Amino acid sequence: MSDTVAGPLAAESIAGAAYIVAALLFILSLAGLSKHEKARAGVIYGIAGMMIALAATVWLTLQGAWGTDHGLTGLTLLVAAVLVGGAIGLWRARVVEMTGMPELIALLHSFVGLAAVLVGWNGHLESPKLSADLMAVHHAEVFIGVFIGAVTFSGSIVAFLKLSARMKSSPLMLPGKNAINLGALATFIALTVWYVNDSQFWLLVVVTLLALGLGWHLVASIGGGDMPVVVSMLNSYSGWAAAAAGFLLNNDLLIITGALVGSSGAYLSYIMCKAMNRSFISVIAGGFGIPALNKADADDGEHREITAQETAEMLTNASSVVITPGYGMAVAQAQYPVAELAHQLRERGVDVKFGIHPVAGRLPGHMNVLLAEAKVPYDIVLEMDEINDDLDGTSVVLVIGANDTVNPAAAEDPSSPIAGMPVLRVWEADNVVVFKRSMAAGYAGVQNPLFYRDNSQMLFGDAKQRVEDILRAF
Ligand code: NDP
Repeated sequence: MSDTVAGPLAAESIAGAAYIVAALLFILSLAGLSKHEKARAGVIYGIAGMMIALAATVWLTLQGAWGTDHGLTGLTLLVAAVLVGGAIGLWRARVVEMTGMPELIALLHSFVGLAAVLVGWNGHLESPKLSADLMAVHHAEVFIGVFIGAVTFSGSIVAFLKLSARMKSSPLMLPGKNAINLGALATFIALTVWYVNDSQFWLLVVVTLLALGLGWHLVASIGGGDMPVVVSMLNSYSGWAAAAAGFLLNNDLLIITGALVGSSGAYLSYIMCKAMNRSFISVIAGGFGIPALNKADADDGEHREITAQETAEMLTNASSVVITPGYGMAVAQAQYPVAELAHQLRERGVDVKFGIHPVAGRLPGHMNVLLAEAKVPYDIVLEMDEINDDLDGTSVVLVIGANDTVNPAAAEDPSSPIAGMPVLRVWEADNVVVFKRSMAAGYAGVQNPLFYRDNSQMLFGDAKQRVEDILRAF
């Protein structure tokens, strides 16, 4: 074998070996991240895997670049892309607020989708020389990759717009929405058969537009309260899009990583659907949302207000207190005074616990991270299922910036858009104090009858300031 052939081949085998090591590190990373104590090691495995993967790719490009114009262009583009992408990534990661994390993740998913579309288009324009059978497989890969990528791209953009409140969170209810989705799928299958037999470029343009429309419709049809499942589902789609790109680029690492992200994202969506009592199939099919009834003006009765001073007195006389934080605690950054409040109450002999809903805040585990940051002891932070039965008989529940996750309509009103979603049954406690700034609805846009219950009182204002007022009143 001549040197000119042995060089690239050897380079590819070494890079291939490095990719397998990187893939193993990614698997170890996922395993580590699934346990609290091993999460730090999981992150380190992930970083190591990514560094090896990047180094192998750069090295492979360098080998190809040696002495050829084509390779040099590749190298220049790679360096430019890494510098620009790295700088933007570093800047966004440094400035993003914890509450802005889900929308950033949604935006990142859209990039994976876009990349898969571009790789697919490139796969058409630079078609390899293959036998007729293999060519059909190549065309199918191109077409399916572009489809998944475009659905992921536009779906993630809608998720980003909804999560960042640039678009209304209520579900889009087009007449015959299921027929639209099924029709789009059937058209995609027909176009794939056509393209595999006759690979015309315009077919690729049509399937891209079709998939962009489908992705947009799928996510727009889903109501605000169900967005956590959508985000994890898009995570899964972005994995499959990456795997499709891996097939086209003949890159094993991309195939393995894409499959890992795709399957773990799908499994996470399944777990979240179970936790929120939703049907997995209807999420994948895009939208189980029922139109959010605007009950803002409905006669829900009178609400009562309470002052920080009165709350402090109520807490002093309480024997047990449960704190249920939500998105508003994150916005107000109230976790530090809340941790201090818990500490002071415990010093006074009050039994204090935290009740955490699985989708409180804007990303899974959001509240746990904030409370850990404020050094709240782990053993008093309980999951919803662990605390729900104890709420009946609790002297005072402090609802700090939570709304949808404590809404009795989910348990009691079958016509509610969030009906069936498990919630913290705070209304069973002797007294409930709700910390928020107004009577506005939560993320799902649904009014909350809790505010009008006889045992509920509203403590209006910024959560951080009100908790600090209570601490002063002590
Ligand atoms: P919600 O989003 O339902 O409500 C938060 C409440 O906080 C609002 O009603 C708001 O009322 C109040 N608030 C906002 N800022 C402040 C402040 N500075 N001080 C005091 N109160 C404030 O919160 P939940 O955590 O109960 O529910 C989470 C929702 O987000 C669910 O619908 C969930 O499905 C969805 N979601 C969850 C994700 C996840 O993975 N966890 C991801 C995406 C969405 P006001 O304006 O009157 O102050």
